[in-house]
Amino acid sequence: MIKAVLIEKTEAGHHAALTELADDALPEGDVTVAVSYSTLNYKDALAITGKGPVVRQFPMVPGIDFAGFVETSRHPDFKAGDSVVLNGWGVGESHWGGLAQKARVNGDWLIPLQAPFTAAQAMAIGTAGYTAMLCVLALERQGVTADQGEILVTGAAGGVGSVAVAVLAKLGYRVAASTGRAAEAPYLRSLGASEIIDRATLSAPGKPLARERWAGAIDTVGSHTLANVCAALRYGATVAACGLAQGMDLPLTVAPFILRGVTLAGVDSVYRPIAQRREAWARLARDLDIEKLAAITNTIPLSEVVPAASRMLAGQVRGRLVVDVNA
Ligand code: NDP
Repeated sequence: MIKAVLIEKTEAGHHAALTELADDALPEGDVTVAVSYSTLNYKDALAITGKGPVVRQFPMVPGIDFAGFVETSRHPDFKAGDSVVLNGWGVGESHWGGLAQKARVNGDWLIPLQAPFTAAQAMAIGTAGYTAMLCVLALERQGVTADQGEILVTGAAGGVGSVAVAVLAKLGYRVAASTGRAAEAPYLRSLGASEIIDRATLSAPGKPLARERWAGAIDTVGSHTLANVCAALRYGATVAACGLAQGMDLPLTVAPFILRGVTLAGVDSVYRPIAQRREAWARLARDLDIEKLAAITNTIPLSEVVPAASRMLAGQVRGRLVVDVNA
């Protein structure tokens, strides 16, 4: 038997709880992984609370990320004992995920654990941190460099935001961190933010164009915030957009695009090709300070996942939550 979080949808409604499952209940797949650590991402919180249409079939074991070691494999690239990581691919949405002591998946979805990270550190990064790096890579691809001016990170005290601030600061960018939690200003400064912006100044409907301010931005929030970020990008600047914590809508005009030539670069992590995943993980190994990662992270046992999901959607979780599935 294995411990797992299980989401069920019955006539009584949506229900998520810690339970025990038989090994043979695991879904089809050519690699079985003994999970060491998983994480709680925003998407997992939506799945567990039922507040977003993340789960495509029930019952579902949530968890879009896991790190562990291969128990059995029929996949040519993996053998028993290999340390592996999984991020996305619909796991925790349409295929049972990582918030369990074991997972059985398609080996094409796995990557080797990136040195020098431990399994726990890889999950401290998780989809949130790997997405933060994909956003940094998107800015670099558009020619954004540290000497051009300030980079704005929205949702800065969250998981994606915290890693983005830490990585950008290490790369020498001047980082403005937008947060709704003034009390987290010292935390954000410790990660390398040089300026703290009250998110209320970005979240209300704004003008089509504002004063040119940002040389680049990473937005985890969407809605009016992303519209206001676009309106205040400097001529030719880029925003990498990955999130919807404020909302899925995007109420903006074409003015920033046709008058200032700005770029809105969409970032998806879930179906990212393997080569780009490896590139992002290799860059995290180079550009994310392990000490900062420790400051970003808290660890909880599997039994605390369900209440933590509600706290996350209420914006009360700072940084990243690692889940020790064997605690
Ligand atoms: P977190 O919950 O850790 O962080 C989200 C942060 O957004 C909060 O900490 C808060 O930051 C801010 N926030 C919350 N509610 C609001 C609001 N109503 N208005 C403005 N800001 C708000 O989530 P993650 O960092 O894990 O994920 C962030 C977003 O990125 C999510 O929408 C997630 O779905 C998305 N995402 C997308 C991926 C992709 O592949 N495209 C991959 C990973 C994540 P603060 O308190 O500092 O204001």
